[in-house]
Formats: sequence, structure tokens, C-alpha cells
Amino acid sequence: MPLDARTKLFLLLGNPVEHSLSPAMHNGAFEALGLNCAYLAAQVEKENIEAAITGMKALSIAGANVTIPHKETVIPYLDSLSPEAQQVGSVNTIINRYGHLTGTTTDGEGFYLSLQKYKANYEPGQTALMVGAGGAARAVAFALANKGAREVIVANRSESKGLELSNILLERTPLQKSLYLPLDKKGLAETLPRCDLIVYSLPFNLPEFKEALALGGPFKKNQLFFDLRYKPDRTEMMALFQEKGGDACNGLAMLIWQAVKSFETFTGQAAPVEVMQRKAGL
Ligand code: NAP
Repeated sequence: MPLDARTKLFLLLGNPVEHSLSPAMHNGAFEALGLNCAYLAAQVEKENIEAAITGMKALSIAGANVTIPHKETVIPYLDSLSPEAQQVGSVNTIINRYGHLTGTTTDGEGFYLSLQKYKANYEPGQTALMVGAGGAARAVAFALANKGAREVIVANRSESKGLELSNILLERTPLQKSLYLPLDKKGLAETLPRCDLIVYSLPFNLPEFKEALALGGPFKKNQLFFDLRYKPDRTEMMALFQEKGGDACNGLAMLIWQAVKSFETFTGQAAPVEVMQRKAGL
């Protein structure tokens, strides 16, 4: 569909954005459905986030995705939040309806759908270890807790953020058991054997966690290490966990499923999932 004066524009707001797969996925999906829409990536510095959101209204931008580092800082500039975004305290999707901006998050749903696709027999009532307590970890931890996890353990560098996540999970979801764990190799190595699911939510390979993997194990085949990163395909942490007998997957399918759910929020139409998967290189 050629672009014209009626083309609806969607943006990705983040920094950095140049390696993002979102424009390829969304533009591929618009094309497949013959929609007069376009999706561009916009690099937004932290100090410009308010201007970017106000600008969405001024320019009638139809919607946006939000990524690192703005998922929490956009919230004060939006007109309303979905119950999911309110609960998690994070926004990855904004929809502009006649100048009213609503923020929602599809990260948790994207994670859970990708988990179920990877492990068809995944049972919700399990023990999960979150490594990290940032925006992505929060969305995933809420999804697991809302779906009926038995226990969610939060391991994080800063105690205040780790404890905060653990406490709000207990306050805002049906979860009955949660605790905070420092990122210390001995404590982590002792905890790993009783975790069915380990969600690695740090943006880099943390030496203390590598040491914990080396100390811990052997792991069981039904223990899943889910690395939220997807570059490289098999991260060093995934390889370490697999070498000790456990199962591991990366975050590419989560990225695709959160995009699928965003696309459906943007357009109100079922997303062409296979097109989006192909565009993301799955
Ligand atoms: P974030 O909000 O910036 O969180 C960063 C986390 O890293 C926090 O827990 C922070 O701990 C920790 N951290 C930072 N520097 C550290 C250090 N030097 N030592 C120990 N811990 C440190 O990031 P995010 O949005 O949660 O993203 C996390 C990862 O998930 C990224 O790699 C991102 O690409 C990926 N992700 C993937 C998807 C997907 O769809 N697959 C979606 C979202 C994110 P403190 O609390 O102590 O600062």
C-alpha cells in the first residue's frame, strides 16, 4: 500500500533503537493486511520523553511502542493506563484515540505466550527465579504470579528494587510466596536446584551468576532457563545451563508475541503472526 496523506503513523520510542526488529515486524504485518499504516523507529533521549509524548498528540501519531529506557518514565505523560500497565507500572504500547493517550503493556502476555509455545506442558504452579528486577523482569514476574506461580524469587543487585518487586507481587497478585535474594554466587547456586523456571532479565552476562551456574547443578531437563535476550541466539548463560543438563531458550519469541499483541491493540485486527515471525528472523 503506497503511503499517502491518510497514512497512519506508528513509532517506536526508545534509545537506542537502530537495531530494533519492530519496524520490520509491524511494517511487514501492515503490508500483509493491506493497511495504510507505517511504523518508524524514533530515538528519544531521556530528557525529551515528555516532548515526544506531547508531540504524539500534536502530530496525530496513531500509536507507539516504548522500549528501554522509557517504559516507566512515559507514565506521567499519558492520559490513562490499562489495568495491566497500572499493575506492572510499565508501558510498552501507547494508543492515541482522538487525542487521548492510553498506555498498556504486552510484555507479560508476550512472555507467557512464548513460554507456552516453547513448553506446551508448562504448568503454571511452579517456582520461578527472576534474575533482575528491571522493567522486563517486572512484566514477566507479574505474568507468572497472575497465572498462578507457586513462588517467585527475585534476585537483584539493588536490594530496594528487588524487595519492592517481591512485595508488590504479594500485594497485587494472588501469589502467596515471594522472597528477595542478593546476587551472590553461593545463595544463587543453592537456590537454583529448586527453581523450575529461571528468567534471566539482565542486559549482560553477570560474572556472579556465571559462577553460580558453575557451582550449581547438574540441572534437570525440565528446568528451563529463559534468557530474555535474543542476541546471540544461544547466549553464554543459556549454553552454561544446557551444558549442565537443563533446557534453555532465548527471548526472540517473546519479542514477537509482545509485538503481535501490540499490533492487535494498534489495529483491532488479528496479526499475521507468521509474517511477523519471518520478519523477525524466527
Ligand atoms: P532495565 O529495566 O534497565 O533493568 C536492568 C536490570 O539490570 C536491573 O535489575 C538492574 O539492577 C540490573 N543491572 C544493571 N546494571 C547492573 C550491574 N552492573 N550489576 C548487576 N545488575 C545490574 O532493563 P529491562 O528493560 O528489564 O531489560 C532487561 C533485558 O531484557 C535486556 O537485555 C532487554 O533487551 C531484554 N528484554 C527483552 C524483551 C523481549 O521481548 N525479548 C523485552 C524487554 C526486555 P538494579 O535494580 O540493581 O539497578
